[in-house]
Amino acid sequence: MKELPTITSLINSFGKLPGVGVKSAERMAYAILSFSKEDQEEFSKAILAAGNKIHHCPICGLYTEDDKCEICSDMNRDHTTICVVSEPKDAIAIEKMNAFHGVYHVLGGLISLSKGIGCDSLHIDSLLMRVKEDKVKEVILATNPTLDGETTAMYVAKLLEGKGVTVTRLGYGLPMGSSLDYADSLTLSKAFEGRKKI
Ligand SMILES: [Zn+2]
Repeated sequence: MKELPTITSLINSFGKLPGVGVKSAERMAYAILSFSKEDQEEFSKAILAAGNKIHHCPICGLYTEDDKCEICSDMNRDHTTICVVSEPKDAIAIEKMNAFHGVYHVLGGLISLSKGIGCDSLHIDSLLMRVKEDKVKEVILATNPTLDGETTAMYVAKLLEGKGVTVTRLGYGLPMGSSLDYADSLTLSKAFEGRKKI
């Protein structure tokens, strides 16, 4: 029996999710078919609502439904300490450890020589602007401990040289080649405590 085109398209959609192979995508697609009409509608509405309402905070790049994100709006946080991450999910991992009270800056990726991604596609100019305008005292480079993460951290550190700001890099702790959002909170907070000046 040939697969129905609507099923194929549903499987292809699930297959776009991270870590989902063809088999899992098939299981998910058929699970959706077994949902009640109500649950199917709720599911699709949730996806559309997320896509329509959530956008990047214009200051730091985290996800928000408002003009600016909860962290940028919070005056109890230290706006003179910026933690630079590659993706919003890294900031979420750092938030979970409950020990960082500064603000974030999302680069939107990493410089990658192997993938041909240069610094132009990253939000670096806006970081330099914030450092200048918000009288920032410390920039913590919390990119992943991978080759691309290190390359990016070193590049940003170089640009911040002589700008009157302390630049630190997470201490390790974090295993080389791993990613921040997989680190447990204890390892991550130890890496924060052990951050070193560049
Ligand atoms: Zn923000």
